[in-house]
Amino acid sequence: MNAFVENTTCDVLVVGSGAGALLAANRAHDLGLSVIVIEKSDRYGGTSALSGGGIWIPNNSGIRQQDSYEEALTYFKACTHGMVPEEKLRAYLDSAPEMVEYMRDKVGVKYNPVAGYSDYCQHLPGASDNGRTMFVEPTDAGILGEDFFALREADMGAKLFGRIALDYYDGQLLGARGKGWKRKILSLIWNYWSDLGWRTKTHRDRRVTMGSSLIAGLRIGLKQRQVPLLLNTKLERFVVEEGMVKGAIVSQNRNEFVIHTHRAVIVGSGGFEQNQTLRSEFLPGDTRVEWSVTPMHNNTGDALLAGERIGAATEFLHEAWWAPTVRIPAAGTPNVNMRSALFIERSYAHSICVNREGKRFANEAMSYNDFGHEMIKDNARTGANMPCWFVFDASYRKKNILGRIMPGSLMPDTSLPPEWWDTVLYRAQTIGELAKKIGVAPSTLESTISVFNEYAKTGVDLDFNRGHYSFDRFYCDPRHKPNPSLGALDSAPYYAIRVDLGDLGTKGGLKVDRDANVLDVNGHPIPGLYAIGNASGAVTADSYPGAGGTLGPALTFGYRAANHIAKGTHSVTPSSVSSKASV
Ligand code: FAD
Repeated sequence: MNAFVENTTCDVLVVGSGAGALLAANRAHDLGLSVIVIEKSDRYGGTSALSGGGIWIPNNSGIRQQDSYEEALTYFKACTHGMVPEEKLRAYLDSAPEMVEYMRDKVGVKYNPVAGYSDYCQHLPGASDNGRTMFVEPTDAGILGEDFFALREADMGAKLFGRIALDYYDGQLLGARGKGWKRKILSLIWNYWSDLGWRTKTHRDRRVTMGSSLIAGLRIGLKQRQVPLLLNTKLERFVVEEGMVKGAIVSQNRNEFVIHTHRAVIVGSGGFEQNQTLRSEFLPGDTRVEWSVTPMHNNTGDALLAGERIGAATEFLHEAWWAPTVRIPAAGTPNVNMRSALFIERSYAHSICVNREGKRFANEAMSYNDFGHEMIKDNARTGANMPCWFVFDASYRKKNILGRIMPGSLMPDTSLPPEWWDTVLYRAQTIGELAKKIGVAPSTLESTISVFNEYAKTGVDLDFNRGHYSFDRFYCDPRHKPNPSLGALDSAPYYAIRVDLGDLGTKGGLKVDRDANVLDVNGHPIPGLYAIGNASGAVTADSYPGAGGTLGPALTFGYRAANHIAKGTHSVTPSSVSSKASV
């Protein structure tokens, strides 16, 4: 799989092995093109492999009775507020459902809509709260043989006891302690341990779920098609001849060689979130690589830099898929730098977020991306955010997860490492004492919590309307009344954890048209160069329309790129890219 391939040739070179890249490779092969995939690291799958694997597909075949193209377009336009050409939004809505059907019918990766899953921006026209988000069925990745071990491993938080893979529905059932949750745990444990032949090989579960299932399914597709995937092979620069990208200079162990392309290079090499220099240049505030929850070291903006060198345009470089993240050390944690994103925790009752003045600044239950924007805005206003604090009480701790920390009923405080207290997690018997420990004025925090506790009684948050929208309540315990997302912080001990403005990847990159063809600085398509996923400027601009809003577009524009390349419809307008042999 990793043989040194000297000066080889193919129709399409795919750079990166995230979801969009592997989908594009399968599709290009099925359209009769010869394909090579290269991946910089020694694992394939990128951030996509450790993601939830959800995809946002408006008007998908499972919800056509409740959704419509027009409603979806209204919502998408409202989310992107004029920052993205309508033809690109339409291209997404046109092709996303078809792409899902292609994955199911030709590659064997099966997705289902999740009834009741809300779009993230419920206040916008055209928002749906029923099933635009789809989740993938689990895959038996044992079929991959030795290639199973090169699949990037899912995050510990997505596994029971750090080992047994959970799918979306398992996670929902166990998180909410729904009917039959104990039986579910027992059956998961039984299935894992009774797989005796596999257990003798590895502790890793071959039933892979979520993002790992998506990547495993796409990888199986490539194996069946005999498309080579070269690990430890990095894009360095593009080869340009007569205004067209004709391949790339790549490296293996610092040895450079050329892969020539007859048709195109598709870059799906992720964003630049792991590059501190680019973060500092483009992202707001005193941003740090270690706040990202993406795999360490890989997504360093290589395609962005290579594209800029040949005159490609860029967009949205100051944006990321924002996520408030917390540091929770975990020995042996694969991939990520001891970080967890607070995806759902902020919506649970008995918790609030405050800035360093001890004041609330937003509806805590909003989506992680919108919450990130609120952190940025509050910091511009007060200079006392980024970081801020997540504060909760004993009722929260007993019942709910916090990143990788299980609820206190399963993982009591006595089981947590003693060195965490007042370094990772802060704890005190009174709110005033907690405030002192985290450097916040005690009287302000006490007053913030006393006001919030009144809102919890009435069920109406007069400051930020938390719990009003269906998305705010989606993960909450519906039995908690009057408002499932509002609960008083009134039982000691009280806890706090520092929250940084992290991300799931950056979302600015090479500017592309509706077929993912990269544009030059004059707005002309660069023949032979395509960008998808976080290597490209996001079709969602600064928004996150719903769960799956990053993988849905990565896959769909991977699909469109392959279709466009196969049609051979290159631009007739000469692009202004450098025509030197390699740049
Ligand atoms: P990646 O998946 O990161 O793939 C990029 C690949 O390119 C990497 O393997 C990298 O090593 C390789 N590469 C980089 N540079 C080079 C180079 N020079 N040469 C060759 N290869 C290179 N999004 C959703 O839509 N739905 C979800 O449910 C969801 N859940 C998430 C959960 C978590 C915990 C996280 C962290 C993210 C989640 N996301 C989700 C976000 C989503 O996973 C990412 O935005 C998406 O995977 C990015 O895809 P990509 O293909 O652009 O990059």
